[in-house]
Amino acid sequence: MNNIVYLDNSATTKPCVKAVEYINNALCENWGNPSSLHLMGMNAEIAVSEARGSVATFLHCREDEIFFTSCGTESNNTAIMSIKYKKHNGKRIITTAIEHPSVLEPIKALEKEGYEVIYLHPDKSGVISLEELKSNLNSDTCLVSIMLVNNEIGSIQPIIEAAELTKRIAPNALFHTDAVQAFGKLPINLQKTKIDLLSASGHKIHGPKGIGILYKRKGVNISPLLLGGGQEKNLRSGTECVPLICGLKGAIDEIGSAEKLYQKQKELFDYAHCKLCELDFIKFNSNSECIPYIINISVPGYRSEVLQHFLERKNIFVSSGSACAKGELSYVLREIEASAIEIDGALRLSFSRYNTNDDVDSFCSALCEAVSVLKKSI
Ligand code: PLP
Repeated sequence: MNNIVYLDNSATTKPCVKAVEYINNALCENWGNPSSLHLMGMNAEIAVSEARGSVATFLHCREDEIFFTSCGTESNNTAIMSIKYKKHNGKRIITTAIEHPSVLEPIKALEKEGYEVIYLHPDKSGVISLEELKSNLNSDTCLVSIMLVNNEIGSIQPIIEAAELTKRIAPNALFHTDAVQAFGKLPINLQKTKIDLLSASGHKIHGPKGIGILYKRKGVNISPLLLGGGQEKNLRSGTECVPLICGLKGAIDEIGSAEKLYQKQKELFDYAHCKLCELDFIKFNSNSECIPYIINISVPGYRSEVLQHFLERKNIFVSSGSACAKGELSYVLREIEASAIEIDGALRLSFSRYNTNDDVDSFCSALCEAVSVLKKSI
């Protein structure tokens, strides 16, 4: 498709040139099984190990703390469900009410099995209170799972402080963060944090779909979801998907420095914010301190699906919330006390390094046109 304005990068991103190149190479040339002892296997193993090295460098951790999975969802499930197999552990899990379903659903499953779950509620800006976390931590806490960046509104949680609090008050509890929307976007230095487990995904950073990352701090013991041949040091059995692992490395190599990219992205974000401020018919749902990749707005009185389809006819692609919500009213927006009419008219713009100021201009003028052409639904 030519001339598309793709502003749905939190749903997924276009694979970058290096990702495609590395995937192709692994599919066509380096297609051995990393577990094979012959040269073909060794070459594939080298590719996997180089990719592991790139992820580790990027996150400032050790290579043996990085495990490849099939997606962010699997990483989250592995981290959370492993609690079940920990002996002599408490029964309290603390999370937030605005986590992605791949965190909330396994936690709900544990709740049904008798775990006590505390859901921290964010304030109107989408950020949880450390005081509230502190007052809920006790010696019975076995897991704290708090996302780094929210996928719908882009709010950033104070996870460095949250992990420190957790380790101080409940030293036996594991601290997990779903960093799927933060990885490759916010600089993360795991050496400087008390995080035990972190999940990330390839397809949000111009890598391929079907590849996830689980960081597990050395010394932390968790159980695998998949049992079998013992790949990934027994944490994730199944022949490694070398092409996607290489594609992930391609995406990371192209990012280079998350710090530099952040600065560039912030300029685009500030431009978009400024332009959107000129539209007096919208309301911002994202706070001003959110990640400079996501802006969630509402156009009260207009249904987001109708707006989305209007924009789509002009080759402009945005979403009405998270890609997983599929039309259901957003629980995230409800949590930050958006009204029903605001939730009904919510649009999420999510950017990547491929977006330009022109994309923002196209979106703004198309949205103005939509509002003048379309009838208000309410
Ligand atoms: N966590 C968050 C915050 C996400 O936004 C997503 C995907 O949108 C996921 C987890 C799931 O990642 P994946 O699509 O790789 O399973």
